[in-house]
Amino acid sequence: MCDMTEDDFEVPIKGVIVGNGAVGKSSMIQRYCKGIFTSEYKKTIGVDFLERQLSIEENDVRLMLWDTAGQEEFDAITRTYYRGGQIAVLAFSTTDRDSFDAIPSWKTKVEDEVGDIVMALVQNKVDLIDEAQMTVEEVEEMAKRLKVKLFRASVKEDFNIEELFKYLVSSYLSTRDNVVQLTVPEHKRPANPVTDNHSSKPSQPDNNPTIRLPVASGGPESAFELKPSRGNSSKKVKAPACTLL
Ligand code: GDP
Ligand code: MG
Repeated sequence: MCDMTEDDFEVPIKGVIVGNGAVGKSSMIQRYCKGIFTSEYKKTIGVDFLERQLSIEENDVRLMLWDTAGQEEFDAITRTYYRGGQIAVLAFSTTDRDSFDAIPSWKTKVEDEVGDIVMALVQNKVDLIDEAQMTVEEVEEMAKRLKVKLFRASVKEDFNIEELFKYLVSSYLSTRDNVVQLTVPEHKRPANPVTDNHSSKPSQPDNNPTIRLPVASGGPESAFELKPSRGNSSKKVKAPACTLL
């Protein structure tokens, strides 16, 4: 219980998979977490989520993929489903035009519930590409318009599913690493620091992190700030390297 070392620290990540019914969401979760595929169509798999542990960029991650209980056709996915979601898959099926057309509204739904989290667009069932109900150009246009990375995938053939979640998790970790805690070594801090009682709130995830260092006199205005370079405004901006004390 108390013998945890730093190496045992795991990052829990909640992922949500949205999209119309029958696009392959439950199958995707089962494929990724259990390594199985069944062509039997079950409306619910009767669980809230499946999980899988993975190591990525020296982080141990516990990825929990939440499944909807087949209620998506009724537009009745509960808030609990989305709550705390950190990554999202927007999935449609190659053989289902409606599921493709519904993608923008699924994205809006996710954003309404959990904000601008890391997302990817998944065209599932590319093993059935001969029966495609949309063109390659339409799909690329959609990804571009929604500003999300596109994965053409087949849960059935186990094609691109590993890559999908690897991308989502590492993108998430990059945004998370961007939230910089106060980790400047003692000897590099300004002399005679005073307690900064303006920062009682825990730091919030932020794409523009700031390290506020307390200084000897004056209010928050005289605190100096370190900001990462702003050359790249995308989410994948890496925070400056920090040392954990
Ligand atoms: P959900 O309603 O979105 O959860 O969809 P399911 O995971 O239940 O899948 C619906 C149906 O599509 C099932 O019969 C699956 O076996 C099938 N399916 C899922 N992924 C694929 C795929 O990549 N290719 C093919 N051909 N069928 C798939
Ligand atoms: Mg399902």
